[in-house]
Amino acid sequence: ERFYEVCGTLVTPSISKLADLISQCMNYDPKKRPFFRAIVRELDEKGIYHGNFGMVELCLYDPKGDQTGELVAVKSLKTENESSNLRREISTIRNLYHENIVKYKGICNDEGGANIKLIMEYLPAGSLKEYLPRNKSNIDQKRLLLYALQICQGMEYLGSQNYIHRDLAARNILVENESLVKIGDFGLTKSIKDDKEYYKVTEEQDSPVYWYAPECLINRKFYKASDVWSFGVTLYEIMSYCDRENSPPQVFLKSIGRSHGQMTMTRLVDALEKGWRMPRPDSCPEMVYTQIRRCWSHAPENRVDFNSLIKEFEFFLT
Ligand code: ADP
Ligand code: MG
Repeated sequence: ERFYEVCGTLVTPSISKLADLISQCMNYDPKKRPFFRAIVRELDEKGIYHGNFGMVELCLYDPKGDQTGELVAVKSLKTENESSNLRREISTIRNLYHENIVKYKGICNDEGGANIKLIMEYLPAGSLKEYLPRNKSNIDQKRLLLYALQICQGMEYLGSQNYIHRDLAARNILVENESLVKIGDFGLTKSIKDDKEYYKVTEEQDSPVYWYAPECLINRKFYKASDVWSFGVTLYEIMSYCDRENSPPQVFLKSIGRSHGQMTMTRLVDALEKGWRMPRPDSCPEMVYTQIRRCWSHAPENRVDFNSLIKEFEFFLT
C-alpha cells in the first residue's frame, strides 16, 4: 500500500457534485448568485480544503478506470515557488509509520509535470477544527482526552525519529473516525541533526505564532520541547471544542488588546515573558489544565515531555 506507484489519472469526483454550485454562480439574476462566503462553505463541505500554504483535494484514485478505486487526499501548493517545500514535506511524511500519523500513499504530477502533488490517505471527517464544533454534543471529555493521548503517541514517535513538527495545532489533527485521530501537515517539519538539540530557522516565513513557545519567537530555536508547548495550545483548543470565539489568537487579542502588524508579536513575547498564559477554558477540568500548564513552562528544559503526558492521559482514561 505504501509504495504503490501512482500512474493512473486522478479523477475528482467532486466535479460532478460541483455542477450545482457552478450553475448557481452563473444564475442570470445577479441577486441570486451566492456570496463568496457561501461558496467557501460549500467547497469545504464538498471536500476541497484550504490551509495556509496548500490546497487539499478529495480525489478518486482509480488506475483501472473501472470505479474500483479508493478515495485519497491530494495536496498541492498554491504557488509554484513553494513546490520545494512540498518536496521536503513528502520526503518527511514518506518515512513515517505510525497509527496516529497520516499515511503517505504516493506522489503524482499535474499535466505538464511541473508541479508535484502529495497523495495521502483520505480522512473523511477533516481536521479537529471542523470536526469538534460540529459534533460537540456527541463528544464527551473522555473522548477529548483519548484524542490528546493519541496525539502524544504520534508526537512521541515523531520525536524518536528526530523530527520536530513545528505546526502542531487542532487544524492539523485529522479525524479518521470518532475514536481515532492522526497528526497531519508536515509542511514545517524539520529533522534535527544527531549532534544538535534544536533546529534553527533561517528563512522568515508565516509562522503560527500563537502556538509557539518563547524560544521559537525570540531565538528562532526549535526543540522537541517546543512541540510540547504547541501541544499545550492544541490541547487548549481541544478542551474548548475549537470554539472560534476562544481560539488562541482571539484569547490573546481579547486579553492583551489589539494592535497593528509587527507590534502584536512584540506584545505576545512580552506577555509570555511576564508569565501571562491563556486561562483555563470553562469546559476544561482543573486536572487537564494542570497538564496544559506543564507544557507552558518558560524554559524548554522545565517542560513535561510526551512520554510523561502519555502516562498522565492513560491514567485519566482508566
Ligand atoms: P497547509 O499546509 O496548507 O496547512 P494541510 O496539510 O494542513 O495544509 O491541509 C489543509 C486542510 O485540508 C486541513 O486543515 C484539513 O482540513 C484538510 N486535509 C488535509 N489533509 C487531509 C486528509 N488526508 N484527509 C482529509 N482532509 C485533509
Ligand atoms: Mg495546516
